[in-house]
Amino acid sequence: MNRGLGAVSGLLSRLNTPDILNKLSDALKAEIMGGENGESLPSTFFTPSSMICKRQMFYKAKGESPEPSPFDYQMTGMAESGTDRHNRLQNHLKNLTDWEYVDVAKYIEDNHIDLEIVSHIGNEWKLRNLKYNVSFMLDGILRYKPTNKYYIVEIKTEISFKSNGRQDVDPFHKHQGLAYTQLLKIPDVIFIYENRDDCSLKFYLYTPTPEEIEKYFRRKLTDVLYALEKDELPPKVTVEDISLTDVIKTDKVCNYCPYRMKCGRDDNNVKG
Ligand code: SF4
Repeated sequence: MNRGLGAVSGLLSRLNTPDILNKLSDALKAEIMGGENGESLPSTFFTPSSMICKRQMFYKAKGESPEPSPFDYQMTGMAESGTDRHNRLQNHLKNLTDWEYVDVAKYIEDNHIDLEIVSHIGNEWKLRNLKYNVSFMLDGILRYKPTNKYYIVEIKTEISFKSNGRQDVDPFHKHQGLAYTQLLKIPDVIFIYENRDDCSLKFYLYTPTPEEIEKYFRRKLTDVLYALEKDELPPKVTVEDISLTDVIKTDKVCNYCPYRMKCGRDDNNVKG
């Protein structure tokens, strides 16, 4: 459900619910969102999972506050659930005979990779690159011992509806994997998709082409960093910004964008 439809449906459900339940619901959702009084400043780093729309990246780097949505607590809950499942899969990956679950700090140091380690909690490494203003959580790096070849690992959990129809890496996830290959200097990404409902697994290998890297990573970042320097609003997302294997509607990006209202207002100002 997109943010606009969600707000209307949430309001209707609230009117039909006893007040005491609304009170508990408000308190619990606020707690899930980081504490009843908790509010943190938004990060100004780009994240590889949301490097699709240049304008959205621009707003993020400028520190614009994401617009609230009644479904933010669900996103947090789904992320927590995904993190819990990631952790179990990562622990299983560590036990494989032919595969080494690589120590990321050692890999970065040994290979002189331009990444700072922000934190290492459980199996998750939070890394950032100051040159490109990118920050991300890395699921892991695997080394296949018989060939000594390294692979970036990205784990995704998804509902049955998506999982049953999955035949390749989601094009949106390719953008994310593509950025990882450039930041970690490892050309291949193994995506592990787990069905949230029955825990079945699907595996895909993605190796971005030089053209994809140029178009979706280097040129996009250069454009946004230039726009930030000049303080010039980049254009709205286009199909050209998105498509890696097929044409995807830009609505899909905008419907989940946390800056939709700001973007609309800015557009009206530009049109005059
Ligand atoms: S609403 Fe769409 S075009 Fe505007 S910033 Fe968000 S993703 Fe980009």
